[in-house]
Amino acid sequence: MSARILVVDDIEANVRLLEAKLTAEYYEVLVAYDGPTALAIAASEKPDIVLLDVMMPGMDGFSVCRRLKDDPETRHVPVVLVTALDGRADRVAGLEAGADEFLTKPIDDVLLFARVRSLTRLKSVMDELRQREASGRRVGVIAGAASRMGGSGGRILIVDDNIRQAERVCAELAVEHRPIVEHGVDKAILVARGPVDLVIVNTASKSFDGLRFAAHLRSDEATRNLPVLAIVDYDDRPRLVKALEIGVNDILPRPVDPQELAARVRTQIRRKRYTDYLRDNLDQSLELAVTDQLTGLHNRRYMASQLDALVRRAAAGGDPVSLLVIDIDHFKKINDSFGHDVGDEVLREFAVRLASNVRAIDLPVRFGGEEFVVVMPDTELDHAHRIAERIRLHVAGSPFRVMDGQELLTVTISIGVAASLGEGERPDNLVKRADEAMYEAKLGGRNRVIARAA
Ligand code: GH3
Ligand code: MG
Ligand code: MG
Repeated sequence: MSARILVVDDIEANVRLLEAKLTAEYYEVLVAYDGPTALAIAASEKPDIVLLDVMMPGMDGFSVCRRLKDDPETRHVPVVLVTALDGRADRVAGLEAGADEFLTKPIDDVLLFARVRSLTRLKSVMDELRQREASGRRVGVIAGAASRMGGSGGRILIVDDNIRQAERVCAELAVEHRPIVEHGVDKAILVARGPVDLVIVNTASKSFDGLRFAAHLRSDEATRNLPVLAIVDYDDRPRLVKALEIGVNDILPRPVDPQELAARVRTQIRRKRYTDYLRDNLDQSLELAVTDQLTGLHNRRYMASQLDALVRRAAAGGDPVSLLVIDIDHFKKINDSFGHDVGDEVLREFAVRLASNVRAIDLPVRFGGEEFVVVMPDTELDHAHRIAERIRLHVAGSPFRVMDGQELLTVTISIGVAASLGEGERPDNLVKRADEAMYEAKLGGRNRVIARAA
């Protein structure tokens, strides 16, 4: 995965060195030599990551970081602060300013690329969620933008067989969170599947393999999105790199510094709450808004937004758009004879057959009840007619298996087809013509396709 990285340092040699290293690994590099320029570039170029030197004349790295994190436009861009060697005080100040990561000078290549890779991954997840949330807001479902979420009151699972260290970390976190300690992994895996906001694992534990445990959390569906903070000896380089490769969210060097612990935990929890918030909105509101719950097809509301744009484009001389209106024949009889639940089964099975018989660019929609629509971009009437015929055969050709296979039902459909007329066309007219054609198919005896030329 490649990324655009903004490198900020007042010393040109430092910038050139990082630029060379990153370019060699196929990253795209933007550069700035002072804070104000960095802010301007971050706003206009939207980089994926910012590598930011702390020591700069005028506006220092902390101020630049704070401004980036205060601006809703750049808040989600990960910031890596480049500090002096052993800059523990710098790290704490950086975390308070909202920095996501740290590198110490001279920059170690392995750590540099490990950090960049893991932040690129994080950024792409956040981007996707943000984008989907934004489209949710456009559809009018999600009321407001995400507010800043707090980083306290978290449920934290500490997994460490070093009892004294675990108790110390637990006591420090108990001031603002609700920590629990587990000394072994079997129990910890179960606890992690419950309501937990963050896992802290000591990778230097003697009685279990902390990295294997972290990898397990990453591969388990139930814990995949749970942030993991690994306690690692900074001298144990191979383990440090491995931890980042596995995808732990953050590293805490040993011996654990209380302030750094508090700041890193707060960052992780805040980030978790933000992504949870985005995910929840997405799962509930957005999916509800564009998807039909029974069949999983798109719903009418979503269709309207798409069809509008396609018809407008066709009317302006773009590609033609065709539309099918499909209605199940004598559906009421199925309900009456077998019950509403079997009716639902038929609708679901029909949706599967429909979706598997249209192209990827087509939009199969449940229009309401037992009526469906397929929107076909870039499709002439004749072509749409042929696809409609194929769908009709695929439904009538083999019976629907319902009630766990106890009953086989023959189902037929009537289809009306219409295509956009170009200039002056309106979406509702297109739907109306296809609907009239469908009605003609019903009158003509059902189980047939009728296309309306105009
Ligand atoms: P035609 O061939 O003229 O289309 O006859 P039909 O019986 O299919 O049409 P009609 O419009 O008279 O009846 C449609 C029925 O579909 C009535 C309604 O109760 C049923 N229906 C609508 N939505 C659902 C649903 O979500 N599940 C089930 N099981 N039935 C539904
Ligand atoms: Mg019907
Ligand atoms: Mg009907």
